[in-house]
Amino acid sequence: MPEGPSIVILKEEVQQFSGHKVLEVSGNSSIEISRLQNKIIRGFKTWGKHFLICFDDFTIKIHMLMFGTYRINERKETTPRLSLIFANGELHFYTCSIKILEGDINLYYNWEEDVMNENWNPKKAKQSMDKIPDKLICDALLEQNIFSGVGNIIKNEVLYRCKIHPESLVGKIRKKDIQSLIDESVTYSFQFLEWKKNDELKQHWLAHTKNMCVRCDLSIIKKYTGVKKRRSFFCTNCQKLYQ
Ligand SMILES: [Zn+2]
Repeated sequence: MPEGPSIVILKEEVQQFSGHKVLEVSGNSSIEISRLQNKIIRGFKTWGKHFLICFDDFTIKIHMLMFGTYRINERKETTPRLSLIFANGELHFYTCSIKILEGDINLYYNWEEDVMNENWNPKKAKQSMDKIPDKLICDALLEQNIFSGVGNIIKNEVLYRCKIHPESLVGKIRKKDIQSLIDESVTYSFQFLEWKKNDELKQHWLAHTKNMCVRCDLSIIKKYTGVKKRRSFFCTNCQKLYQ
């Protein structure tokens, strides 16, 4: 599943269509796609893993799910979920979830929750963490209403950097470590963005899918953790378990 930074890359790549009219629309999406015909795109936004195509009085919300892809000015063999043709190019989405959000997009999203948004509010994240002391940190970091955009890779890398065991209880982790986790979620997301653009993301992974801890020279544990049952990669020697 693409994480927040990958959706930010998508937003940057489609800027060429901002302010342009949709000349043709097609696809097998169940939304009323004819509404997009001849409408002008007012802008593109992202909220975590959501990609948003904004028109005057409605917004197309695209979620890539597990296997969603897109193509710009080229096509795949498979039938697109949504195809938009402009005078200056074309944009196609495949195997993703598409919905229409009516009216003002700001009523649907709290931009303060998106770790890559200019309105990101770390204080709000801290307050949200204070409300879930009994959750495991591996689940908390994936809460999209606290850390919108953070996915499983970012989770594993941030926990490793901050030396926190994924099965630690949020309420037992020291305050300064909670603050480090919040700060590092943002820092790592922007590094992820740059590395992904340079096609070098994987070579920077220290924990995710790794076998050995570079700090301890001991085996990295792989385990499906938390109620979300997502893969965690961690070192039990240098990542402290708070319980
Ligand atoms: Zn270690």
